[in-house]
Amino acid sequence: MPVDATLGYDDSNIFARILRGEIPNKTVYQDDWALAFHDINPQAPIHILVIPKGAYVSWDDFSERASDAEIAGFVRAVGKVARDLDLVSPGYRLLANTGINSHQEVPHLHVHLFGGKALGPMLAR
Ligand code: AMP
Repeated sequence: MPVDATLGYDDSNIFARILRGEIPNKTVYQDDWALAFHDINPQAPIHILVIPKGAYVSWDDFSERASDAEIAGFVRAVGKVARDLDLVSPGYRLLANTGINSHQEVPHLHVHLFGGKALGPMLAR
């Protein structure tokens, strides 16, 4: 079910639970600002989710409330994961769904990182 991104942060969402260590994940990278792990239902040969460690619903929420250090740390983590997975040369795609029209399912900001094959058109036609 898509979530309404205007409803505020729900501390019981699945990524909050992953960050608290209540649910396992396949971590590929983490630092003070971000956690990157394999998507449980991959849509491409490489499908990683990168999430900030702070409690933010969406990109717009994060950009409004997060500190400069959190924003820099998160953005740098996304790029580091892409480099570490050798995705720069073949290319990759980033995607951040927000709200109902975008079919966001988990109300904790996450950037999908897709790679490992030609990814086709930007949106379904
Ligand atoms: P979105 O529709 O952008 O909110 O995407 C949510 C993503 O989270 C989907 O691609 C799910 O497959 C993924 N997901 C849900 N639960 C887990 C989990 N426990 N571990 C890893 N990925 C998950």
